[in-house]
Parts: sequence; C-alpha cells; structure tokens
Amino acid sequence: MAYATCSRASSRLTVDLDALCANYAIISRRIAPATCGAVVKADAYGLGARPVVRALRGAGCKQFFVAHLAEALTLTPQLGPECEVFVLNGLDAGREAECAGRGVVPVLNSLAQVESWRGLAITLQRRLPAALQIDTGMSRLGLPPDEAVALNETSLRDDVDLRLIMTHLACADEMQRGENRDQLHRFDSLIRLFPGVAVSIANSGGVFLAPEYHKDVARCGIALFGVPPSAQSFPLRPVVRLDAPVIQMRSIDAGTGVGYGLDHIASRPMRIATVGIGYADGVPRSFSKRGAAWYRGHRLPVVGRISMDSLTLDATDLRDPSLCEGTLVELIGPHQPIEAVAEALDTIPYEILTGLGQRHQRIYLGDILMEHDSAESSS
Ligand SMILES: *Cc1c(COP(=O)(O)O)cnc(C)c1O
Repeated sequence: MAYATCSRASSRLTVDLDALCANYAIISRRIAPATCGAVVKADAYGLGARPVVRALRGAGCKQFFVAHLAEALTLTPQLGPECEVFVLNGLDAGREAECAGRGVVPVLNSLAQVESWRGLAITLQRRLPAALQIDTGMSRLGLPPDEAVALNETSLRDDVDLRLIMTHLACADEMQRGENRDQLHRFDSLIRLFPGVAVSIANSGGVFLAPEYHKDVARCGIALFGVPPSAQSFPLRPVVRLDAPVIQMRSIDAGTGVGYGLDHIASRPMRIATVGIGYADGVPRSFSKRGAAWYRGHRLPVVGRISMDSLTLDATDLRDPSLCEGTLVELIGPHQPIEAVAEALDTIPYEILTGLGQRHQRIYLGDILMEHDSAESSS
C-alpha cells in the first residue's frame, strides 16, 4: 500500500495490529514467567484503544491499564471475565460505586483512597478488587513507604481483594541509572508485607532492565506500539505509519514567499508540494525547523510555517514526476520512524503518538472487525 494514491484528501494513519501482537509475543517471551499487561491509556497512545485491546486480547493479554475511570468504562464491554482493567490515576472521588459496579480495578494511591474503597466494601458486604501503588522514589503517585508499612495488611484484606502491588520507576529508560536499583530494593522490602499478592514494577523501560525488575506483571505501553525505550536496539516491529496526501503542486519563482508570514523566501525557482496535514493532526509547528516527509526514498524538507491543516514541502530536487496531487507522502514510516520525528521535534515518541488527532483515516491492519469499527466511528 505504500505510496498508493488516495482519492480522498485525508491523511492516513495505519496501525499494524499484527505487528502489535508480534511485539506482545516478543515481550512476553522476554519476561516469562512474568506476564505482559498492556497500558492503553489516552486511547492506546492515540492509536485507538478499541481495536488495540481487541487485538491484544486475541493475543492472550488479560491485564489492561488506563489512566482514568472513563477510559476503563469504554473498554469493559469488550473485555471478557478473564480480563482486568486497572485505573492508574487512582480512585475517582465520588465515583467509587460506579467503579465497583462495573468491575473496574482502581489503583489505590493514598490512604484516603484505601479507606474509601474499604468503606464501600463494608457497605456492599463484599470484598472489592484493588491494586495498591507505593511511591518508591518518583514523587508522583502512590503511598509513601511509611504509610504502606503502617497499613494493617490482614485487616485490609478482609475488605479488599488485593490484586497487585505496584510501583513505577522514574528512570527505567536509562539502564545505567543507579536510582533504578534504589527503587527496586526499596520496593522489595515493602512487598514482603503483602505476601501472595502479584507484584508489578516494570513499564516498557523496566522490561529491558534485568529480570529482577520483571516481577509478576509488566505494564507495557510504548514498546507494544513498536518503540523500544531509550536508544536500545531491541527487535520490535513498527506498528504505526502516517501518510498524508499532496493536495496541490506549484512552481514558484525565486524571491517568492511560502506560507504564513512568508517565512520562507525562495532563493531559486522551486517546486512546492502542499500536503493535507497540519498541526491539528499532530504535526507541530516546530516541525518546520528540521522536519521532512519522504517520497520513494527521497527526503522532502518542510519549508515555511506549518498551518493547521496543511504544510509545504520543497520538492525542487525531486526528479520523480509521479509526485502529484493525491500522492501520499510518508510522515512516519520506514524512512522516518517515530523516534526520528521525535528527535527532530526535541520530544519523545509518546508525545507524538498521543498528539496525532482525530482527523486521519484510520486503517487497522489485521483487524477482523475493522469495517464494523469504521462504520461506528463515522456515525
Ligand atoms: C504510562 C505508564 C506505563 C506505561 O509506560 P510505557 O513506558 O509506555 O511502557 C506504565 N506504568 C504506569 C504507572 C504508567 O503511568
């Protein structure tokens, strides 16, 4: 499908679900006997939580992590009884009953959340499932170690079905950082207080650390989506591809300005390709500094400012006459992986993916229900 022309003037986001499932298998093998849970917050990092979860479930994944209760609630209808969905940001004050009623597992991040979940369990006269997060050194979420120590574990477990004890590493994508080991040791001394409960410490970065970090369940996001954490060369398959159509070609004389503010003035006669993708589609304005698109192995640099719905490329040196209206050019793909785009933007692949926006035509390779889904999304 590369460079196929497309009659619709819409950019095209291709998500390869077979590659996603292959990554799930690769990571599962690496961390076995630990299992790989999938972090699908923020609409599976912008890729579409429903098809992503459907594919991962088919591949055998049973544990899913989101940030918000609302995200969990959109997923529960498609999860079977063998699956669990955890809400990382904690128990939503005022929505405890809804959380319990829908079988969503909150990550309890404070004593107040622990107490309110216990209170609800007592009212409902049944044990309620929960994960407990302990902050071992990131200062973000979770009980401080002294509060975790002070919890009366036995009486807590009368009311709460503890499914997971977890912590999060601050520096997992930097293997050599000593802080990883500090957090691990702190965590190891705390999990002894909760015998028999499954333990989770690793995100994608942690998966690539030593086996002590794998524990029972890894919480993997970015690696499943094909991006190895940090600069590691681990063979993951790329999952995401982004192409956008040329919507107009023009030739301009030397001295002519291009785009808002006429930021670029042609120093020679130029051929300009205007492409139908802009900052509303996740190509930030700062991409004009070092960014490019690719066509048949040629790099076409961005010239001028990026608009909301379009950007302009310098196609002057491209001898290939097949670049024309309707042709797709590659923004993310084999010539320009997400890591390269992130680097050109001084950011991380996570921010690129979660900023992609809603206007792309979405193609889910390997999704048996794709037609069903696109019918739904166009309604
Ligand atoms: C987002 C998140 C993850 C997933 O991180 P990746 O680096 O994408 O694997 C895991 N755990 C927690 C607590 C998170 O917030």
